[in-house]
Amino acid sequence: MSRIYDRSEQLFAEAKTLIPGGVNSPVRAFKSVGRNPVFIERAEGAYLYDVDGNKYVDYVGSWGPMIVGHVHPEVQEALKAAIDRGTSYGAPTELESRLAKLVLEAFPAMDMVRMVNSGTEATMSALRLARGYTGRSKIVKFEGCYHGHADSLLIKAGSGALTLGVPTSPGVPANIASNTITAPYNDLETLKAIFEEAGDDIAAIIIEGVPGNMGVVPPAPGYLQGVRELTRQYGALMIVDEVMSGFRVDFGGAQTRFGVEPDLTCLGKIIGGGLPVGAYGGKAEIMEKVSPAGPIYQAGTLSGNPLAMTAGIVTLELLKRPGTYDALEEKAAYLADGLAKAAAKAGVPVWTNRVGSMLTGFFTDKPVVDFASACTADTVAFGNYFRAMLDRGVYLACSQFEAAFVSLAMTKEDLDFTIAAAEEAFQVVAA
Ligand code: PLP
Repeated sequence: MSRIYDRSEQLFAEAKTLIPGGVNSPVRAFKSVGRNPVFIERAEGAYLYDVDGNKYVDYVGSWGPMIVGHVHPEVQEALKAAIDRGTSYGAPTELESRLAKLVLEAFPAMDMVRMVNSGTEATMSALRLARGYTGRSKIVKFEGCYHGHADSLLIKAGSGALTLGVPTSPGVPANIASNTITAPYNDLETLKAIFEEAGDDIAAIIIEGVPGNMGVVPPAPGYLQGVRELTRQYGALMIVDEVMSGFRVDFGGAQTRFGVEPDLTCLGKIIGGGLPVGAYGGKAEIMEKVSPAGPIYQAGTLSGNPLAMTAGIVTLELLKRPGTYDALEEKAAYLADGLAKAAAKAGVPVWTNRVGSMLTGFFTDKPVVDFASACTADTVAFGNYFRAMLDRGVYLACSQFEAAFVSLAMTKEDLDFTIAAAEEAFQVVAA
């Protein structure tokens, strides 16, 4: 492969002198795949174009938001018109109610929703609300689930049934970490044991609708319902973090796809159509506790930003059209099947998990059902695969423990191009 990456290399060298690690979000540095990142110049439809003129089929989609493809003409047109009306007012707009209505219509478990600026803000605010509402301090999160970088959620699991949190990052105070209990995903028995021991102190369980941050791991049949029952039994709230899965695995997210009704839901990514947005919502009785309706404080200078609301509204209206999710399902199934066959042909063991248009091929022959089994994946083999795919014009998430996102902009030719690239890349891995 004779692609040239010289300009990206120059820009990265410079960026490292200006920005920690050269990037504004760690994973973008490509550290786990043994090469430097490519710098992007522009995007259109299913493609990214880097500063050296290389073109890629894009399976990152800005880490989820770009489900209708980049520079969608209807989103673009609405955004251009919105810019001419001003970029931020810090005052209420009709746009905020329009996006809120679209969200509430899609998620019947929510009566009210509050817009914020990122997924991290959404989960952090939902936790404060859950704690304020229940008057309890502890929360339960799952090993391998990521909910943004707020202190109480940046907690790594230790071993054992009831493991008090150990901070994943220096700077998270131990007393904050001690209020976060971590549990293995897809394991109701351990969760029951945790509630038997600490149930009266637990404000909420927070769970990804479909975990995508240890790679894609589907909830086992009945698992989400079991979590729901347990939280009800102990008077804790169930927070489903649908920042990634919301409007992705179904218009109504994982809760619609799997039939579970949480107390609070967190959203982000797709609802901003590529602009910075997050949201959290739930039953009116709980949401009415948020300021200024109630005493639990949460605010934001740019929250409900008119450009972000506009991009979100148009994106959700596009997704609402009939056939959208069938089309996504069909494209993603075709891709997953083609990739699995390519791996098998090269004799490379790959376990594929897919829910709707999010999928991960784990470089392992073991079923991946939780964080421990995800960790059986051969990350060196993944790195070899990633680099070979990049060199062939396929832009994948630069870690084994991430999802690939299929977008509506992808054509059968794009998927076939990807599968053909993978046939060669798996041979590289096997060699
Ligand atoms: N929750 C989930 C499930 C996510 O996947 C992410 C980000 O990837 C977040 C929360 C944090 O969102 P943000 O990066 O917008 O703060």
